[in-house]
Amino acid sequence: MSRARQDTVLIVGGGPVGLFCALLLGQQGINVTVFDNNEGLQDDPRAATTHPATLEVLDEGGLVDDMIRVGLVTPVFQFWDRPTGKLVAEFEHALLKDDVKYPFVVQCEQFKTSRLILERLEKLSNVNVFFNHEVMRVRQDANQVHVTVRTGDGEKPFTGKWLIGADGGRSTVRKQCDIAFEGFTWEERFLVLTTPFDFKSERGYCERSYFADPDEWCNCFKVSANGPPGLWRTVFPARSDVSIDEIMSDEAVHGRLQRFFPKPGGYEIVHRNLYVTHQRVAATFRLGRVMLAGDSAHVNNSIGGMGLNGGLQDAANLCGKLTQVILHGGEDRLLDLYSLQRRTVTNEFVQAQTIANKKRLEAKDPQTRRQNLDELAAAAADPAKAREFMLRSGMVLMQRRAASIGLET
Ligand SMILES: Cc1cc2nc3c(=O)[nH]c(=O)nc-3n(C[C@H](O)[C@H](O)[C@H](O)COP(=O)(O)OP(=O)(O)OC[C@H]3O[C@@H](n4cnc5c(N)ncnc54)[C@H](O)[C@@H]3O)c2cc1C
Repeated sequence: MSRARQDTVLIVGGGPVGLFCALLLGQQGINVTVFDNNEGLQDDPRAATTHPATLEVLDEGGLVDDMIRVGLVTPVFQFWDRPTGKLVAEFEHALLKDDVKYPFVVQCEQFKTSRLILERLEKLSNVNVFFNHEVMRVRQDANQVHVTVRTGDGEKPFTGKWLIGADGGRSTVRKQCDIAFEGFTWEERFLVLTTPFDFKSERGYCERSYFADPDEWCNCFKVSANGPPGLWRTVFPARSDVSIDEIMSDEAVHGRLQRFFPKPGGYEIVHRNLYVTHQRVAATFRLGRVMLAGDSAHVNNSIGGMGLNGGLQDAANLCGKLTQVILHGGEDRLLDLYSLQRRTVTNEFVQAQTIANKKRLEAKDPQTRRQNLDELAAAAADPAKAREFMLRSGMVLMQRRAASIGLET
């Protein structure tokens, strides 16, 4: 083994959350080393929806103008009743103009956000990003954190003052720290089918459209991809008692899209991905010198697009406090406050909301369905109720609640 390198903050995981942490700390002049086990940035079609509250957080890293340039500004979102084909409710983010700096959502694929962050990191001499570096073991003592990293040249030790585990849902850091990941796994998987077919011009669906259906709910989103014209992602539930080969077969995926919106000539499908979906939250987001952020701390279903948003908000909360501790003599209790604030709002908002979103779309009982759809229609028709709805769905209330939580003295 080579000699240990000294760094102030080690970050495990070069996904969007780990890279954003590196940017926020790096911009303050703090020494940071990021390890990621991949060869480079991952470009699988996951998060895109970036909510108004998160745009404010990304503004701290100077990212929003570029995200608007490479993504899609989406001012409205819709709920549809799939069996009747009727538009139930349409919500306009402009109603939040007095609440937030950016009263809209930006659909920006997560690999694009990561790329924008990485470009900025490359200009910071105090930040190193090492791809092809897999963290295998984590150990801490009173003053330092030690990791063992598998590299192309064998295993190497690194040492830092603090460590951020941003290494995704299967987090090695979380497991090495013996932090429980409490919650459950949904029985059905989520199938994502991506097509260039333009659901807006052909059917009037907006760039963020949710479809309630007792048999097969659907989410339908537009992303700019390498566009224009961009791509549309459809998300469907896939039963657990059907084999993956069967779910992913040409016949099955084309059949789903034809049932969703029949059209002559078939669909061009550019991606097909299947995800196991969980609702889990780590028992703590801090253990000594180790903090968890992003999917390593919490995972949820993707209806409402809140997972990465929550992770980026974790990053901003954590890095603000860590900067206080490292540079300005802040007490390390601030890091307990990070865990308390973010864990509380993850449970109260992201977990509660995403579970409720799924139940609303999949409801089978006709009376419950009617009530759900009537409530949505009533909320959309009344500007005060619509604003309240969007403060929640746009994660603004969540940020306000986090800021209101303090440690008992
Ligand atoms: C279909 C789908 C749609 C979604 N849509 C949205 C959306 O619209 N909006 C939203 O907010 N969220 C959405 N999400 C959730 C979002 O994708 C995740 O929340 C997000 O990827 C979390 O980012 P992260 O950086 O925490 O983790 P990840 O993106 O998982 O990154 C973790 C990184 O750590 C690396 N790593 C893991 N272990 C190690 C190790 N031991 N050593 C070194 N590196 C390691 C991994 O390879 C990876 O690069 C969606 C998810 C899915 C599946």
